Amino acid sequence: ARRKIVAGNWKMNKTVPEALALVRELRGAVAALGDKVEVAIAPPFVALQPLHVALEGAPLQLAAQNCHWESSGAFTGEISAPMLAELGCAYVIVGHSERRQFFGETDATVNKRAKAVKAAGMTPIVCVGETLAERESNQTLAVVERQVRGALEGFSGADVATFVMAYEPVWAIGTGRTATTAQAQEVHAAIRGLLARLYDEGTAGRVRIQYGGSVKPDNAAELLGQPDVDGALVGGASLKAADFVAIVKAAG
Ligand code: 13P
Repeated sequence: ARRKIVAGNWKMNKTVPEALALVRELRGAVAALGDKVEVAIAPPFVALQPLHVALEGAPLQLAAQNCHWESSGAFTGEISAPMLAELGCAYVIVGHSERRQFFGETDATVNKRAKAVKAAGMTPIVCVGETLAERESNQTLAVVERQVRGALEGFSGADVATFVMAYEPVWAIGTGRTATTAQAQEVHAAIRGLLARLYDEGTAGRVRIQYGGSVKPDNAAELLGQPDVDGALVGGASLKAADFVAIVKAAG
């Protein structure tokens, strides 16, 4: 059985003092839930170091929201994967739809970032998902397939088996409009089916696929109850300790 993974993507929210305060609230509450569900938080880059210190011994993994594909060099404003590994990051989100929409991310650059994350000894959380226009023109599965193939180009099944995928329909992000459980399960099953074709059933069966897009305490249990939904990537609701903890609880 796949261990569920709930991750909080804080996006561009929380100053360092605010981040420390939120983690103080989360730490004990998450520990009290036991270790059935894996829990990660992805704060802004500047909070990673202080949270790495604050989280010592806590059952909360650190994730970064993005990284560059080169290890170092003249790339003003960028952060590399080895820098993140050194701060204790276990995961790096790659290909988030906000990066694709606002910062020119493509399937090819998602692939390069995923390779850098893997090479630095961390695990990529690879985000895919269709826009509303793509869903309405029945291109959902084709778009998601193209994104998955692009992101995973050149990886072995052994690599991919350890990865986390996140299906985040763009129209459900920050809109309060959640995919129905049937819509989520359909795409998750399609992603797993594609992984089985690209690699094999064993690999596909090990990959954890999170759902993201307006996950809240009141819809989490139903979404996470779907057979191919192995966790949640939570935006807005991860900014409040009580909501995030309730979602982790719903996953267990
Ligand atoms: P919301 O939960 O705010 O819709 O954001 C989802 C998301 O983009 C997580 O990465």
